[in-house]
Amino acid sequence: MRGCAGAAFPLDAPAHPVKTRFMSTAILTIDLDAIAHNWRALDAMNSGTTAAVVKADAYGLGVDRVARRLARAGARQFFVAVAEEGAALRQCLGPGPAIHVFSGHMPGDAEMIGDTGLIPMINSLDQMIRHAEGLPGHPFGIQLDSGMNRLGMEPAEWAAVRQIALAQHPVLIMSHLACADEADHAMNPQQLAAFRDMTDDLDVPRSLANTGAILLDDAYHFDLARPGIGLYGGRPFEAARSVVTLDIPVIQCRDLATGETIGYGNDFAAPQEMRIATVAAGYADGVLRAMGPKTSLWAEDTPCPVVGRISMDLIGVDITDLGRDPKSLQLLGPHQGIDTLADNAGTIGYEILTSLGARYTRRYIGG
Ligand SMILES: *Cc1c(COP(=O)(O)O)cnc(C)c1O
Repeated sequence: MRGCAGAAFPLDAPAHPVKTRFMSTAILTIDLDAIAHNWRALDAMNSGTTAAVVKADAYGLGVDRVARRLARAGARQFFVAVAEEGAALRQCLGPGPAIHVFSGHMPGDAEMIGDTGLIPMINSLDQMIRHAEGLPGHPFGIQLDSGMNRLGMEPAEWAAVRQIALAQHPVLIMSHLACADEADHAMNPQQLAAFRDMTDDLDVPRSLANTGAILLDDAYHFDLARPGIGLYGGRPFEAARSVVTLDIPVIQCRDLATGETIGYGNDFAAPQEMRIATVAAGYADGVLRAMGPKTSLWAEDTPCPVVGRISMDLIGVDITDLGRDPKSLQLLGPHQGIDTLADNAGTIGYEILTSLGARYTRRYIGG
């Protein structure tokens, strides 16, 4: 993962300088103010405290810049997937904020958890014992399984462990919803009831809601909510401000005669004379091959359809109707967001974001 190199940056550090004179690689622009705005908007809807989920390099957008901006917006509680991410995040944020680790206390992690002050969300009796033996007295939380069958203790295991666990004063008890992005799904009230069954008699702060569950209703909010995708402009938070734009440079433009083909496999043959731009990005940059047939790149307000197969580093784009050769074309932006690309590729916005390529020049605005 990308973390802070060396010493922690002050929270008001200026944007990293980015050379913009010549654009030879695609430029991914990340709007930190939009992320802060989305966090505040979710916080305003949430009846409890609002944390921020910044696992997987803040959903691919750069955890150091994103987390520091969220801290400035007021976030004091963060969640990551694994201890390594938590240690890197601690470097960025300094000693104040709480950093929770979804995967809990894994073998070999005691030193890192202890040294960087992480809060493992304990998922099993094994983890509980490992934590109590390896880091006695160190803060921890509990993760319960309320029906997703992915992480956390199931009701029977929790019943067996709860005396030992409660005696050591967990700082948080959480569970996770499988279907929160579908407001009417019967799984939501079912998991809510299971979570309440396991926790209603406890005097420990509780957390159940991801982005989707913040939007459901107050019954799901409890003490602490854990939004991720909504911060980054994705569904189901339809009111989110969009966060990413991706501008891809045009390398070459050419004319096609009727019947000529483009790209691998001769998938596309020109039905009439056309003008084609070849742009510098491909599936190695996270532009999934599957999105090709339904996707356009945009020259300001003009959509230019992808033609032929998406290659590893190159994409052919039909600029016939544009009437000029553009210097660059936009794949992500106001005309086409992560969820549209996800629909085009048969996937979800989360995967579009976390696939965004390492070759892009990243430019942060706002903050
Ligand atoms: C990723 C994750 C979240 C955040 O979910 P979003 O749908 O992105 O808001 C919250 N809780 C857990 C346990 C997660 O794994």
